[in-house]
Amino acid sequence: MLVAKTVAELRKIRRELIGKVAFVPTMGALHDGHLRLMEEAKKIADHLIVSIFVNPTQFGPNEDYSKYPRTEKEDLEMCEKAGAEIVFMPDAKEIYGSETFVKFRIDKISNILCGASRPGHFEGVAQVVSILFNTVHPDIAIFGEKDYQQLMIMRKLTENLHFPVKIHAVPTLREPDGLAKSSRNRYLSPEERKKAASIFKVMKYVKQRAEQSRFDRMAIPTENIENEAKSMIMKEIPEAKIDYIEIRHTDTLEKNQFLINKSRVFMAIHVGPARLIDNMPLGD
Ligand code: AMP
Repeated sequence: MLVAKTVAELRKIRRELIGKVAFVPTMGALHDGHLRLMEEAKKIADHLIVSIFVNPTQFGPNEDYSKYPRTEKEDLEMCEKAGAEIVFMPDAKEIYGSETFVKFRIDKISNILCGASRPGHFEGVAQVVSILFNTVHPDIAIFGEKDYQQLMIMRKLTENLHFPVKIHAVPTLREPDGLAKSSRNRYLSPEERKKAASIFKVMKYVKQRAEQSRFDRMAIPTENIENEAKSMIMKEIPEAKIDYIEIRHTDTLEKNQFLINKSRVFMAIHVGPARLIDNMPLGD
């Protein structure tokens, strides 16, 4: 496995790869969820390139950029085991130089859900992914459904900018109690970690309500179910701060007054020092 720290090194090695290249962009602190993406890459492509880059432009001023876990040595071991051929591990100066002249602005879906509480976040993600696509030149890029809004934005970005890259999605990998694997789970105390499993429990409840309403052919206002879910979270994790619990259309991420088949529940909940996000399909 080769580790490239500069764009020039990466381009040199990349040119020598023949066949389909799959790319898994990450911010490191790798866990089994990232590994699932890498396994998928090995199945559908001839080569795997992983990037590890904690991207400053997607963090707000009061967010965890400086505290974000950095576990370089373990990350490289995991990439090697997963069969990555190249790990691209640049620093911020390598990616952005001394000034960021080109900035991104994204329409509509970047201002809802995580975009509403993290202004500029998805612009930063679009910016870094564009730079990474332009340096890695992958045939396929793999993203997790865990960050579903990000996945949708990546699809639109790729389409709009005509990147010759196929976006491939992988379902969320969870802990045995249902909590989505995340680099930020390590911020949780044992007590908080235990309670955080309620996020999955409440999403499952929302899914059951959706299935029941379909069975009963009842039009249930989405807001009612969202409010029920909020009460359940506050009961299960009294110290939690709910950023959002929303039910939206699977493809357009628009809100519907009544629950429809093609919908998904989205949650962002602060538990102690961690902001945890998750989502689940409620129908097809
Ligand atoms: P991150 O390092 O958190 O930026 O994540 C890098 C990629 O891994 C993104 O495409 C995430 O959606 C994906 N990912 C993170 N956690 C999980 C998980 N539990 N299951 C599947 N994919 C994940």
